[in-house]
Amino acid sequence: MTVPTIALNDGTQIPQLGFGVFLVDPDDTERIVSDALEAGYRHIDTAAGYNNEEGVGRAIAASGLSRDEIYVTTKLKNDDQGAKTAPIALQRSLDNLGLEQVDLYLIHWPTPAKDLYVETWKALEELRAAGKTRSIGVSNFMVPHLERLLAETDTIPAVNQIELHPYHQQPAVTAFGNEHGIATEAWGPLGQAKYPLLELPEITAVAAAHGKSPAQVVLRWHIQQGNIVFPKSNSRARIAENFDLFDFELSQTEQSSITDLERAGRVGGDPNVVN
Ligand code: NAD
Repeated sequence: MTVPTIALNDGTQIPQLGFGVFLVDPDDTERIVSDALEAGYRHIDTAAGYNNEEGVGRAIAASGLSRDEIYVTTKLKNDDQGAKTAPIALQRSLDNLGLEQVDLYLIHWPTPAKDLYVETWKALEELRAAGKTRSIGVSNFMVPHLERLLAETDTIPAVNQIELHPYHQQPAVTAFGNEHGIATEAWGPLGQAKYPLLELPEITAVAAAHGKSPAQVVLRWHIQQGNIVFPKSNSRARIAENFDLFDFELSQTEQSSITDLERAGRVGGDPNVVN
């Protein structure tokens, strides 16, 4: 099965569906990422803060796939923000992953109280020029943070990775991204299983109509919205289920009925507060 790719504003392409490893235990990461690669995923989303980059790297090395067949994202920890520390942190991540270059490097959170994200972004511009990462982007950036980057630096982020699921669609920041060519990556695409998204009648009815699972319907909704997603699961069966999204299509009415669930229902941290 071929996963569609999304063209980023720097001329590169990213697979629209990947596998995320937040809260995957470091001891289990190699096995679980190997399961994902075997199921067909070719895009892995990790972070220095997840403490499991080594396991991701071991799974990639063991897969027998060539480097250019796998898209790898990692993220700069909040404590490593700053012009001097960011290059050291990316090199540490590369060493952990056993790679010469990542495909995408993100500032994990804006942490506005630190007021370091502009100088950190300039360091990421240099890291990209040095070939340590093919693309650079941000995560959890809200409109004012993006506006500052656009006003004070030379590079528009390739992506913004934000909490996004039917209860929390972040219309203002996604509209800003669309206007400026910043692709939206949806973290917590299943709401991190923190509210009964998969039991909502609006979702289960659509799932029954297509003979698919509620999780597949929500992930398909993301794909049709144009979001980049990387659902996480430790279970081999769910890993395969979450990859099987390309043999059905939601009608416009079904798509809108899910979009109508929006209620500003954040389940993760507030980007204006997280430090
Ligand atoms: P998610 O929405 O992918 O939810 C994961 C949980 O959903 C699983 O633990 C499981 O309980 C459940 N689940 C998964 N597949 C299922 C299925 N088929 N049926 C029923 N339940 C299922 O949440 P997430 O892991 O937080 O988000 C995905 C990825 O996004 C992460 O792994 C990480 O890579 C990234 N992320 C980034 C940030 C950030 O700040 N940038 C924050 C959180 C997550």
